[in-house]
Amino acid sequence: MNGHYKEDPWSIIEEGFHSSMQEASESIFSLGNGRMGQRANFEERYSGETLQGNYLAGVYYPDKTRVGWWKNGYPEYFAKVLNAPNWIGIDVEIDGVQLDLHHHNPINFRRELNMHQGYLERIFEVLIQDKKLEISSRRFLSMKRDEVGAIRYSIRSVDFSGSISFTPFIDGNVINRDSNYDEKFWDMEETGSKAGMGYLKARTRKSGFTLCMTMGYELQLNGISLDIDPEVIQRNDYVANRVSVDVTEGEEVVLYKVASVLTSMNHDPAELVRQGNKILQEAMEIGFDGLFEEHAGVWENNWAHSNILIEGDISAQQGIRFNIFHLNQTYTGKDERLNIGPKGFTGEKYGGSTYWDTEAYMIPFYLSTAKAEVSRNLLMYRYKHLEKAIENGAKLGFSDGAALYPMVTMNGEECHNEWEITFEEIHRNGAIAFAIYNYIRYTGDKDYLTAFGLEVLIGISRFWQQRVSWSYVKGKYVMLGVTGPNEYENNVNNNWYTNKLAYWTLQYTLEALDLVMASDPEAFQKIKNQTGFAFKEETNAWMEIIENLYFPYHQEEGVFLQQEGYMDKVQALTAQLDPAERPINQHWSWDRILRSSFIKQADVLQGIYLFEDEYDVETIRRNFDFYEARTVHESSLSPCVHSILASWIGKPEKAYEMYLRTARLDLDDYNNEVNEGLHITSMGGIWMSVVYGFGGMKIRDGLLSFDPKLPEKWNGLSFKILYRNRILEVKIEKEKVIIKHLQGEALDLYLEGSKMHLVTQGSVETVI
Ligand code: BGC
Repeated sequence: MNGHYKEDPWSIIEEGFHSSMQEASESIFSLGNGRMGQRANFEERYSGETLQGNYLAGVYYPDKTRVGWWKNGYPEYFAKVLNAPNWIGIDVEIDGVQLDLHHHNPINFRRELNMHQGYLERIFEVLIQDKKLEISSRRFLSMKRDEVGAIRYSIRSVDFSGSISFTPFIDGNVINRDSNYDEKFWDMEETGSKAGMGYLKARTRKSGFTLCMTMGYELQLNGISLDIDPEVIQRNDYVANRVSVDVTEGEEVVLYKVASVLTSMNHDPAELVRQGNKILQEAMEIGFDGLFEEHAGVWENNWAHSNILIEGDISAQQGIRFNIFHLNQTYTGKDERLNIGPKGFTGEKYGGSTYWDTEAYMIPFYLSTAKAEVSRNLLMYRYKHLEKAIENGAKLGFSDGAALYPMVTMNGEECHNEWEITFEEIHRNGAIAFAIYNYIRYTGDKDYLTAFGLEVLIGISRFWQQRVSWSYVKGKYVMLGVTGPNEYENNVNNNWYTNKLAYWTLQYTLEALDLVMASDPEAFQKIKNQTGFAFKEETNAWMEIIENLYFPYHQEEGVFLQQEGYMDKVQALTAQLDPAERPINQHWSWDRILRSSFIKQADVLQGIYLFEDEYDVETIRRNFDFYEARTVHESSLSPCVHSILASWIGKPEKAYEMYLRTARLDLDDYNNEVNEGLHITSMGGIWMSVVYGFGGMKIRDGLLSFDPKLPEKWNGLSFKILYRNRILEVKIEKEKVIIKHLQGEALDLYLEGSKMHLVTQGSVETVI
């Protein structure tokens, strides 16, 4: 579908209506505000193929696990992100004919996602009984008031005279496409409707989240408010008002619909209706234009911190902004109970839950583009789940406070059930530990370690201690039966990446213990008591593992070996693969994939990316060449890591090729699956490949460092960075790089390897 959406630096634009593309476009044009998200479903009725999706952050349903062969340790449920009742609906009848774009072929259809101001707009014409009407709708989910959404729905008659009726409604009769037992997930509790407004209160089954949606509206004819007595409709799962207006040629009738969406996550369930009405009333008083202005103001501010400007490549410019836009509307960092699912608010797949993706791919973006609290809240999410992670470890037979964080979770409990991943893909624990280090190293917030981080590190280190075993044959500690990031290998021994993260976590935890002990002995004592930490025994055991952990290495190739036995496989390269058989996961049996040497996603290279400063360029290059040639990149999380490494080792073409592979993954629908939702977590990786890769940003010896490499095709690249209460702008041109200090205190940094002092409001530059 390459080229389906028009290239534009600030908008995604679709021209012409293609019903076969409707579900894909519903994903692409999704809106969110951190609290809720809405696929680009139409307001008016649509009887064609559609995936209805209105998702509320943190609200889920525990669907009973369905597996053929039960394994002890499997969780009993899998959390599902829920399609919530529909508040956007406006049924439209024109002279008694129900408007339905599946039947009424829209003319001059245009849909735009305006990323600069965060709204979705549709404009089209329809012929009803040979008379033409122009219809447009604009909607947004307020970034300022995250429990409010608003729609302006306008119909202008070109040569039509007659009656138009609008039925704004809230509908609780919704389903999930993904449901193990075809159940409904919402029970209706209460509805109410009167002239001008309606509300619906519902409760999720099992998980017991209560929701209240309210709606209000205003009708205008040619800009003048109308006061029409509506037909008030109220059923146990539906509320609506039906209003009709007579129009003649050239007249415009506009319906403004405003809704509030509240849940028991933030309100007392008994107060929901009252609070919902209050928030609705406030929003109605401000009105659509006022709400829009404050919403656009938040976006203005977001872009001021997170915009990336690419000169000379409009397609790349649009791609990167699309990613940044979705990242900003998926997670705003206000609530430590929330996290980011691989599909964000754009689809049901992956259950909307938290994966290691957050720590490995999302935190870097928020660290550099938002206040420290935003990433801190993502860390707090895991801190709050520590007890559950210890319980999860205990279910698998670990003890004494060993924490194994779930592979997939909503509330801290595991909800993934494939043994080779649930029980074995334990490297996720390492990503969580690394994120603590990464956060502190970037923000300088050392207090986090004392207040929360150390406890998590102790739990994870205890897990690693119990997970390794002593091999008499090797005279080393080994880690058996794991799955690394490369999920095309299961149940392997000594996955280099997992061992590396275990080793590093143990080391970092020892450092963290020393740090906290020295800086705050009282707090240290408290943590020690709370965790029952046997200082001497436990630290000795960890040191012993650090000294004796086995790392597979292949002498002839000079590479860290992905896992033991990897070289026994027939060493086929991706260049030898028949393009018709790619992606291999759609063409080969699982057995064939497991036997092959093909690698799903960055694995050894993921580790080298994290600990790059430990290796010389030659080592990185050897590993890169070896693994890149074998990697099929069948996870969207993979090419960005290869792109960053390629930039770092001076392979600009490769870096750019890898970057392109995911930068427009959804916009160009490379994997033919965008209808299911967007790859939100890989969007963080795209940002990393621009800022870390092309921008060459790192932390070196505690200082920010830049080593930029501009892709040949671009004339310029600039981005802003928030760093310890400062705002810096990095501008990379063909021949030079300039770093401007826009706000905050002076700082030292490295530019192209030279240490420089950057004064407030000053700039430094160098030739590249
Ligand atoms: C990847 C995982 C990732 C998950 C969710 C899988 O395809 O292999 O690394 O966590 O998708 O994005």
